[in-house]
This record gives sequence, structure tokens and C-alpha cells, in this order.
Amino acid sequence: MALGIYIHIPFCSAICNYCNFNRGLFDAAQKTRYVDALLAEITRAGEAGRAGQAGWAGRSADTIYFGGGTPSLLDPSEVGRIIAACRESFDVTTDAEVTLEANPESVDVARLEAFRDAGVNRLSFGVQSFRDDELRRLSRLHDAARAREAVVEARRAGFDNISLDLMMWLPEQRVDEWLANVDAAIDCDPDHMSLYLLEVYPNAPLKEDMARARWTQAPDDDAATMYVTAMERLETAGYAQYEISNVAKPGRASRHNLKYWTDGEWLGFGCGAHGTIDGVRTKNVSGIGEYIDAVTRGHTVTSDVRRMDAAERLGDALFTGLRLTEGIDLEVIRKRYGIDVWQKYGDNLTPFVGAGLLRHDGSRLALTRGGMLLANEVMAVFV
Ligand code: SF4
Repeated sequence: MALGIYIHIPFCSAICNYCNFNRGLFDAAQKTRYVDALLAEITRAGEAGRAGQAGWAGRSADTIYFGGGTPSLLDPSEVGRIIAACRESFDVTTDAEVTLEANPESVDVARLEAFRDAGVNRLSFGVQSFRDDELRRLSRLHDAARAREAVVEARRAGFDNISLDLMMWLPEQRVDEWLANVDAAIDCDPDHMSLYLLEVYPNAPLKEDMARARWTQAPDDDAATMYVTAMERLETAGYAQYEISNVAKPGRASRHNLKYWTDGEWLGFGCGAHGTIDGVRTKNVSGIGEYIDAVTRGHTVTSDVRRMDAAERLGDALFTGLRLTEGIDLEVIRKRYGIDVWQKYGDNLTPFVGAGLLRHDGSRLALTRGGMLLANEVMAVFV
């Protein structure tokens, strides 16, 4: 399978109250230095590959993914230089999927056209909600009207592969309000959608905001209804669920993200970026300044290198594979890891099959939609 290339852009115009990603406030001068560092890291990796010193030597890549942070805060010319560096350093296929995560308030038609000219062919908009009250509670910078406009502008700029992120189970959100969000998203006619349950982290400012304003999240049963009903509604609208949190129109599943769920391999560039090649998992230093400094001094930016043993690789393949609607191909696992999954775990998995949470048809193992809500419990069998 071809490799993926992940590029981390850690800058944001403001820090959202629920966010626990690796990001920092936008600083124009630091962004310029960061892009230079990224270009250097990519170029060095390319040189190592050409010298045969790296596990990816001779492999092609068919995806580039700009994640963040807010990658759409980069100038389109910077995005173009990074894509060009990837193409010069690696064998990137001509039809590669090149995704840019974008926040609605950070783009207009001219910028979107320029991103497209720079080589981006897929946009992933962080919309989260189509209700202004919900967006305000999340301290997002855009409103619902801006989100709708951004999608229209992206179409006008020529993008035919657009994804929207929505979050459910928001503070004060009730089932009807959530479903109205889903309908609003369907009205925008994106090619792909990601639906995430809000997770309120213990140290997130949102937790304090909720306590102060007495905002609550709907009961767990309502969260389950939100998830299941949304998926049904999206299916009726022509989207097929292919992963626990992702739906797509035919042919529009995220080629890049599928690498994470199908035992694939990818290179990661930028602060905090992870990579997995040949059973070796790497992580770069997390801090923006620390990363720029390391690259500039010619030091390694990798803070963690771990060769996964066979058991860990198998566990990973089972965990991530079960996230997919099509589940795990047991024959592929047997060939790759020499394990008969059903023989090894069948006794523990049978109760989940009986409870309608898991499907086992002999050759595949997959979660049902109900099972997806309790995925962690099922997956615990493999730990
Ligand atoms: S825009 Fe995204 S990455 Fe940036 S602070 Fe908000 S949630 Fe975090």
C-alpha cells in the first residue's frame, strides 16, 4: 500500500475552549520560521530515503494531509512550497489526495482558489455546528452563515471533494437541535462528513465555562440516539458510513485517514507529528519553538522511536480495523500475523455477537451500529 504524508500546522487564530490538540496562537514571524523548518525536515527525509537509509526508500505516497491547528492560516504559496517539497523528496503519485483542514472564517474565494492552484484537491472544514449559540459556547470564531458560505465558496473555487466536521453532544444541545445540525450539513451537500462526540477534558476551559453557566450535556441515552439517528439520516441522504465517525458519498472516503484504520503506513512532519513505517512508530517533539530549534540546529526532531512488537502490531490492526464498518478481514490478519483471531478470542467475543454488538460471518468481524457505541468495551477483549 502507498504511504501517506501528514503535515502538522499548529497555528490557530484563537484557542477553542474544548481543544486538546497540539496547537498554539498564530504568530506570523514564527509561522514563517516553522514553514522553513518543515521544508528542511521534508527535504532531509527525502535525502535519507534516496540514500537508502530509511524504511520508505522506493515507496510511493498517494496522500498528503495538512492537519492542525488551522492549516488554512498558511499562505497558499506556503502550502504550495510544502507540497512541492513533498513531490521533490518522495514519489508522490500524480493523482494523490491532498487535503487541507480549514476553518470557515479563515478562507474566502480568492484564498480557496489559490489553495487549489497550489495543489490542494480536498478540503476538510471544521464546522462543528450550524447553530450560533452552540458555536459561541464552543468559543468558535465563525457563525453558521459563514460555514455555509465557505462551502459555497469552495465549490466556486473548483473543489469537488469537501468534508465537514460536526460535533454532537454539545453543552445544552438536545436531540432535535443536533438533528437540525445534521440536516443543515446535508443541505450543504458535502462529499464527506466526520461526526464526533464532544469529549470534555478535565482541564479544558469548557469544563469551567459549563460549571459557571450551568450548561449540561444531554443524558447518555440521548447521545446514543443522536449518533444512531444521525447515521440513519445520512444514509437516507446518500452517505455511506465507512468508519465509526465517518460517512462519505461513493468514492469519497478519506484515502489518507483510511491508512490509519487499515494497518497502513505514513510519514509525519511538523511538531508533534506521528509516523508509522515498517512497524516503527515515531513522534516528533511537540513544542513549536522546540521543533524549529531542533531543525535549525540540524538535530533530530524525533523525540520517540518505538519498534512495535508483533503483539502490539496485531492489537493495533484489530483495534483500528474494528473501527471500519466493513470490519476486519480475518484471513488477512491470519496471513499477516499468523493468528486465527476467532480461535484466540472467540470465547470472549461470542457474548458480544449474541448481544447484537458484533457480527461474525466466518471471514469477517465487524461492529454493528449498536456495537460502535460500545466499541471500547468490545475492543477491550484484544488488550
Ligand atoms: S481551531 Fe481546532 S485546533 Fe485550533 S484551537 Fe480550535 S479546536 Fe483546537
